[in-house]
Parts: sequence; C-alpha cells; structure tokens
Amino acid sequence: MAFVITDPCIGTKDSACVDVCPVDCIHPRKDEPEFAATTMLYIHPDECIDCGACVPACPVAAIYDSPESTPASQKDLIDANSTYRAGDPALVSQAESIVKAHIESHADLMGVAPAERAAAHAK
Ligand code: SF4
Ligand code: SF4
Repeated sequence: MAFVITDPCIGTKDSACVDVCPVDCIHPRKDEPEFAATTMLYIHPDECIDCGACVPACPVAAIYDSPESTPASQKDLIDANSTYRAGDPALVSQAESIVKAHIESHADLMGVAPAERAAAHAK
C-alpha cells in the first residue's frame, strides 16, 4: 500500500496528479470511460512506486504518503483507493460506494471548501 488520495479530491478532481505520475497508477484518467461518473481519483497501491511526485502537484493537498500518515477521518478512503480498478465495473462501483458512505458520514468536512479540507483533517 502506498500513497492515498483523500476527500479534498472530491469536488476538485482536476487530474493534476495523473499528469505527473510516472507509472500511470492514478485512475480514472480523463480519457477513461469511468472519469465522468467517479467522485474522486484513486491510486492503485500495488502499482504506486512511492515517488512522491503527485503530492506537490495536487492543488488541495489530497494525497498522503502512506496509510499510516492518512488522518483518522480519511482511513475509510484507503480501502476505496485499493478497491478501485479501471475497467472493472463492480470494483469501480464498490470504491464509489465507500466514497459515498464517506461523504454521508462526514458532513462536517464536506461543508468545508475542498481547498480548506486537508487543514480540517487534523482538527
Ligand atoms: S507517489 Fe508517484 S507513483 Fe505513486 S501515485 Fe504518486 S506520482 Fe504515482
Ligand atoms: S491532483 Fe489532487 S485534486 Fe487533483 S485529481 Fe489528483 S488527488 Fe484529486
């Protein structure tokens, strides 16, 4: 398990991380059919090489460098990242269900603008 995308990506989803990832492990890309329907992007944990390039590229600090460093309020999204598989509708749906449950159970964070959400993770 490697880098983890968390909820500031929800409502941002600008793909800046995809553009810098050297191993194409962040999905869905804009040219993949799932892109329009997904709520956020996901990092494939087995393909990520821990290079760190995506972290400064993200405009809303959504990416943490390990499951361990992922804040308590975001731990559920570790599973969303590891579940998502481009081209597998069942796993796409399963990952999105985790994200939807996260949104429903974190009304406080969802009420914060995406750019301010990472700062709110620590509170
Ligand atoms: S740490 Fe590197 S390999 Fe992993 S998702 Fe980010 S850019 Fe891609
Ligand atoms: S750069 Fe950040 S906000 Fe943009 S798609 Fe990647 S994780 Fe989401």
